[in-house]
Amino acid sequence: MENHMCSCINPREDRKYAILNAAYAGHVECVKEFIAEGCELEVDEEEWPRDRKSALCMAAISGHHQIVEILLEAGSDVAFTDATKMTALGIAAFHGQAECVRVLLKYDRNVDHEDVYGETALLHAACLGYEECVAALIESDALLNVTDTDAMTPLIWATQNSKPAIVKVRPEFMMFGLYGIMS
Ligand SMILES: [Zn+2]
Repeated sequence: MENHMCSCINPREDRKYAILNAAYAGHVECVKEFIAEGCELEVDEEEWPRDRKSALCMAAISGHHQIVEILLEAGSDVAFTDATKMTALGIAAFHGQAECVRVLLKYDRNVDHEDVYGETALLHAACLGYEECVAALIESDALLNVTDTDAMTPLIWATQNSKPAIVKVRPEFMMFGLYGIMS
């Protein structure tokens, strides 16, 4: 990393953040180089809990699915959670990064993981209207009748946020009879 001239190394930051920057920016070669150098794939600061981040989560935010795959193959912890207890899968769904969601679903056995607000990946995707993510998560048997801390289900979120197409992704989405609550 000493001779690395790329912008993913910020001279004002600790070097351990470089792989996070590279993953977020989509610098495939930099990520590979940092992995080869044995960089930590996760940053977990006890004194700065809000800085709890992984390269995997950063790649998921910006939708760099190739980097997501590289990191997972390099042993990145798919169950790692950020400061709000979101996994990379939840983060990818929150940002509508469908290709990342699909890659993560190959590795993440906990499709219904809940963050601090009781939000699952499906709740995020349904709430924000990301149809492709919703479809991929339902394909992977994500719980449909899950509720978050506001007692909202994916279906309520989807109908409330004017994305009626989402409720048509699969007919079983209608099974819970909640559509009437919103109309
Ligand atoms: Zn770079």
